[in-house]
Amino acid sequence: MELTERASGGPTALPAGAANAIAVGLGVLGDEWSLLILRAAYRGASRFGEFQDLLGISAASLTGRLSRLTDEQMLGRRIYQDKPIRAEYVLTDRGRAAWPILLAIWDWERTWVTGRDVALPTIIHRSCGRAFRPRVTCVECGEHVGPGVVKSKWGPAGGWARSVPETTTRRRSTGSDGRTQQFPETMAIFGNRWSAVVIGAAFQGVDRFSQFHSVLGVPTNLLAERLRVLVELGFLTHDGDAVDARPGYHLTEKGRAFFPVVILTLQWAQRWYRSPEGPALEWLHRDHATIARLDCDRCLQPLEAADVALGDEA
Ligand SMILES: [Zn+2]
Ligand SMILES: [Zn+2]
Repeated sequence: MELTERASGGPTALPAGAANAIAVGLGVLGDEWSLLILRAAYRGASRFGEFQDLLGISAASLTGRLSRLTDEQMLGRRIYQDKPIRAEYVLTDRGRAAWPILLAIWDWERTWVTGRDVALPTIIHRSCGRAFRPRVTCVECGEHVGPGVVKSKWGPAGGWARSVPETTTRRRSTGSDGRTQQFPETMAIFGNRWSAVVIGAAFQGVDRFSQFHSVLGVPTNLLAERLRVLVELGFLTHDGDAVDARPGYHLTEKGRAFFPVVILTLQWAQRWYRSPEGPALEWLHRDHATIARLDCDRCLQPLEAADVALGDEA
């Protein structure tokens, strides 16, 4: 059985001067149902009914998301029965490569998001047999890296104007399907085009209202609203500055702990979407260009999808 031709493989070439890998990649991943469908696929689901059973998603929502994930080459459509025609959806290399992002989201939500009805299970590293937390490691030198240690700078396709996701209507997994969100705070950040770039700017050291306004080109009312939400979520602190009356916005520990999600998402986006001018962002650790991967914090070995289980299924 062959995958459809659209799912065959390499990075997508983006038009010159248009939205870059960051904008396009955030647009693809900034939808909670899409993330949940990918997670079900990592756990072995491939048929329509299997996704429905695992996720409790309506047929209409599932049809729409599967078609979108197929268009975006995250899933390939494979015919497994001719009469009548039945198709299943299997992960492409691009879809499979987003796995560490889901793991980082899971770990962050589990660690930092309180007030769930049911706590998210721990994650078990099968090869060392322990409950672990993923940690970001520099592939080049093997050091554990966090925000501030890895530096990013704009590449030829960079700049804020080209990095803002274009999609403005994101539906969460609540609503017509009437179920609890799995990744509520991640989606408050990821699923909103302006929140995503405000967070990106905060990681680059932007901390003043006027600075956010001028570098991002976001309208002041939207910016004020987004900053308020991010402060409410405990992602940013807002400390008034009595001297010049220009309060600053700074990442909290919880905000900084989102770094793995940010770096893994941006790396994934740049791997699979390419502008002709070159990369949107370049990453530096000490004096070398770097790529981040996730290691087990207990045995320090690189993590593989097949080697990781949730605590309730290990
Ligand atoms: Zn390094
Ligand atoms: Zn381990």
